[in-house]
Amino acid sequence: MKYYMPSIILEDDGIVLKSGDIFKKFGNKALIVTGRTSAKKSGALDDVCSVLKENNIGYEIFDEVIENPPIVQNLNGAELGSDCDFVIGIGGGSPLDTAKGIAVLIKHGTDDYKEKLFGKTDYDAVPVIAIPTTSGTGSEVTPYSVFTDDEIKTKTSMARRIFPEYSFIDVKYFETMPFKVRNSTIIDAFTHAIESFINAKSTPYSEVFAFKAIEIFGKHRNELFKEELDRDVFKDFIRASTFAGMAIAQTGTSLPHTMGYPLTYNFALPHGIANAIFVEEFLKVSPKAYEKKILELTGFEDLATLGEYFRKINATVIDKISVEDEDINEYTRLLMANKRKLANLPQMVSFDDVVGMYRGALEAWK
Ligand code: NAP
Ligand code: FE
Repeated sequence: MKYYMPSIILEDDGIVLKSGDIFKKFGNKALIVTGRTSAKKSGALDDVCSVLKENNIGYEIFDEVIENPPIVQNLNGAELGSDCDFVIGIGGGSPLDTAKGIAVLIKHGTDDYKEKLFGKTDYDAVPVIAIPTTSGTGSEVTPYSVFTDDEIKTKTSMARRIFPEYSFIDVKYFETMPFKVRNSTIIDAFTHAIESFINAKSTPYSEVFAFKAIEIFGKHRNELFKEELDRDVFKDFIRASTFAGMAIAQTGTSLPHTMGYPLTYNFALPHGIANAIFVEEFLKVSPKAYEKKILELTGFEDLATLGEYFRKINATVIDKISVEDEDINEYTRLLMANKRKLANLPQMVSFDDVVGMYRGALEAWK
């Protein structure tokens, strides 16, 4: 059994401004990686720039990361930051994941960049500091990065495993999230926790974090219908996201994530919502003991009530979608080819099982 969590988490109000000494030890020049607006809106970019200036650390800003980032953004960022000593990712999972890919290419050069990110040879990276502004991916404590791959028309994980050296967590950076992003990301965290628990790689160590994340979600789940969250509730959800990240860092994710990726690719569904569509079906195909424990931790009466809850939550974020049978077959072919993900399941699933899950979930969703 192994538990490995090298990322140092510092959670506090104003933590970035208090951490000049930490930034300083990583070098003289940083590449800041962000999305187009959220790092500015949340106040995190201003804090980072001022702490870097105060400590005479130079920086470049790559602020072009889009949602569900395409692989090529790693190349673009690394070209800008080629003379940087470390990378600071600020934002949701999209900029944080891209910060990790860019950090590999800054260290090893941008030629043959896809091979460096996805090929068989392992490459390390310059240090990454993560400053999350969404409460979902846990990317601040996971070694994973997920990118959109237009060749296979879905999303795919980088082969390199890059843990951030530090994660700075300040609740104020999350408070500017729009309602839909907030709900989608909180549900992403919940799905991480259940996919980590219902997992062949789950251990008593990863379970502690998965259970706590599921329990927090269960306690506050009805708050998601409110536009505003109390600060303490928000803090709990942010912690649940980091806890769930610490759980998947050990186990990886499995079916809801992999089934949701082509829906995000083809219908632009927000990541957490795409996962949520499959929660009920995932529990149905999983051994009964998992369902019992998850109902106990969340406080849902039964699986049907849980399914109904997720349909209501999804309706706060997106319109319904309709998927053709031939597309379901294609998504299922892609999934069955992903042996690494299938290995995370505690039980085997067949092609027909997965088609049945797609149909069941999408039918209930109509
Ligand atoms: P995201 O794609 O990073 O951001 C979604 C939207 O929210 C963007 O428009 C972003 O604006 C905005 N936003 C973020 N924080 C905000 C804030 N505080 N205030 C206002 N707006 C804010 O969302 P995400 O759900 O966190 O990340 C999803 C990505 O992470 C997917 O690609 C998913 O596959 C990946 N993921 C990674 C892991 C992992 O372990 N690494 C796990 C699960 C999912 P900007 O565009 O301006 O930033
Ligand atoms: Fe996720």
